[in-house]
Amino acid sequence: MDVKTILKEKAFRFNRQFGQNFLLDEDVLDGIAEASGEKGTVVEVGAGAGTLTRALSARAKKVIAFEIDKNLKKVLDVTLKDRHNVTLIMGDVMKYPVSEIEKLCGGEYSVVANIPYYVTTPLIMNFLEQGKQVKSLTLTVQKEVAERLCAKEASKQYGAITVAVNAVADTEIVRLLPKEAFYPSPEVDSAVIRITLRRDKYDVADRDTFRRTVKAAFAMRRKTLANNLCALGFDKKQAEEVLSQAGLPAGCRGEQLSVEQFVNLSRIVGENL
Ligand code: SAM
Repeated sequence: MDVKTILKEKAFRFNRQFGQNFLLDEDVLDGIAEASGEKGTVVEVGAGAGTLTRALSARAKKVIAFEIDKNLKKVLDVTLKDRHNVTLIMGDVMKYPVSEIEKLCGGEYSVVANIPYYVTTPLIMNFLEQGKQVKSLTLTVQKEVAERLCAKEASKQYGAITVAVNAVADTEIVRLLPKEAFYPSPEVDSAVIRITLRRDKYDVADRDTFRRTVKAAFAMRRKTLANNLCALGFDKKQAEEVLSQAGLPAGCRGEQLSVEQFVNLSRIVGENL
């Protein structure tokens, strides 16, 4: 299918605001669909010209695809014409509660998306925190974002989002994609990552305290963890006592803690608040 010609015929104008860099290479598209491993129901975010949607629909039973840009409707009407297992929803995925999306899925599903930078973190956190039946998210994101999501403790990339995601899921970089793989080419390289849900990975006593502890720990990277924990309402002495109960040295920093140590620390924070 010559998508460039269809885009031209339909006089489609790329909208930078929506991060429109399309994937056209069949091998790359098949690779992403394959990496998702989903043969049942897929939720695709950002159908674009429908290239990834087609690759997904060839493998999955059902694809529910969202696209925010109304101007792509006339393109998608052509590229998805022969795809009877695709339900296209023209709208902003962030405006749909995950519970509504799950009603449409009617059972377990995986998310697949090639998404712009601005929507990456909220989209991931929405599905991780509210999704009841999501199995995995296979996402094409900026390489730096992929590295941050898969980072190990004590590295520069390790941060609150790394801990939040890896507390409930396993993360891996599936493949790197150079900027030239996209049409038009963006300014940065990308990577395909797979986030596989593992809700029983750690026994998090209280999700809210866990979230607040992680957020506070990374709020000021130059400060020690004890100082950062004071934002939760402890004085310095109490914060050091919490660290001692968690078996952590008084002068340690948030980025040195593994996800497991954060789980343990947040439990002790909860007991002392
Ligand atoms: N999946 C296509 C591909 O791989 O070629 C398109 C990828 S393009 C990087 C991202 C697409 O997501 C764009 O078509 C854009 O309009 C759409 N998009 C951006 N934000 C969105 C949102 N909040 N909800 C739904 N679609 C969105």
